[in-house]
Amino acid sequence: MFFRPGTWLLQGLAQARQALPSECGICGRWPSQRVCADCAARWAEVQPRCKHCALALPGGASECGACLRAPPAFDAAWAAVDYGYPWSLLLAQLKFQQDPGAAWALAQLLARAPGVAAALASARWIIPVPLSAQRLRERGFNQAALLAGALARSPNAGDYAHLLVRTRHTPAQSGLHRDLRLRNLRGAFEVPARQAARIAGRRVVLVDDIMTTGATLDAAAQALRRAGAIHICAMVVARTQRLHRQ
Ligand SMILES: [Zn+2]
Ligand SMILES: [Zn+2]
Repeated sequence: MFFRPGTWLLQGLAQARQALPSECGICGRWPSQRVCADCAARWAEVQPRCKHCALALPGGASECGACLRAPPAFDAAWAAVDYGYPWSLLLAQLKFQQDPGAAWALAQLLARAPGVAAALASARWIIPVPLSAQRLRERGFNQAALLAGALARSPNAGDYAHLLVRTRHTPAQSGLHRDLRLRNLRGAFEVPARQAARIAGRRVVLVDDIMTTGATLDAAAQALRRAGAIHICAMVVARTQRLHRQ
């Protein structure tokens, strides 16, 4: 129900396109993958990140101060890049144009980040952060589900979406303080009772496109925890810097 008919056909075509020479979406060089190797190396430099929330930590510490004070509901977090140019362009194509090619390129970028392959391999479920029914109607697709499908490399990945649902529509939260975001999101996610047995005792990966304050992923992780998930890993393409858990 999270996929419109034809989504997988589009994705299949996009994957086929990835295998053919085309133009790099960043530098315009041809022939190339959607993101050429030079651009991936230049713009997606690996950097140390907080093990809990994926915030970039230049000093080499393993955990940021905010997570030391109050760790999020998820156990670990991975991000491929900091949010910003040029990835913001591809993320916008993913979010507003339902671009499966962008989903595929961004999932590849994420899959290359250290630790991500192991986290994916050890998870029983790769679950996209769900949209509310209202937002899904407005947008027509869930960009996190496109990413999760590409990460899972399986046309059945869409089935995982119903393991976690968003029960309540919340207004756009940009600009709000993290505590207020968390309050707005309380009870906004749930694992449907008939799915709880599939989550209990499992390791899961939660996928979203961008983490800003982490409040959305935190609320989604709380629902999975209530259903008995034993390990929850948050996985995003891009992590913002300045808005971190203000
Ligand atoms: Zn390039
Ligand atoms: Zn942190």
